[in-house]
Amino acid sequence: MARSRRYEFNKQTKREALQRSGKLCEAEGSVYGLQAGQRCNAPLDSGVEFDHYPAPATDKGSDTLENCVAACKTCHGFKTRTYDTPMQAKGKRVSDKHQGISRPKYKWFSQRLGKGNQQRSATRPIQKWSLLP
Ligand SMILES: [Zn+2]
Repeated sequence: MARSRRYEFNKQTKREALQRSGKLCEAEGSVYGLQAGQRCNAPLDSGVEFDHYPAPATDKGSDTLENCVAACKTCHGFKTRTYDTPMQAKGKRVSDKHQGISRPKYKWFSQRLGKGNQQRSATRPIQKWSLLP
């Protein structure tokens, strides 16, 4: 139901990113399966894909030129497989874990139990009962 929208680059941004790249893949670093600081530089004539990085496409305002990487299919595919998808899955797991964590509830619970005075006063009537002949 809650399908997160993607902020796609407009044509102008893509055009500028391609221009900036010099028609060579701009992907760089381990995120794209490359060495740190190493740029792919594969020619983009055979096909270019515009990747959102570092902000994911689901982030508002991620459709800027600064966040647009003109990447070859290999690099984009690598990142999608190894970075985007696991990160999303991890995010899911993390939120699941958060929901599943019982500690906050437990803390709450023990705080309630900690109000022993109220509990004791609540049991007093029973003591009175037991004092009855
Ligand atoms: Zn590349």
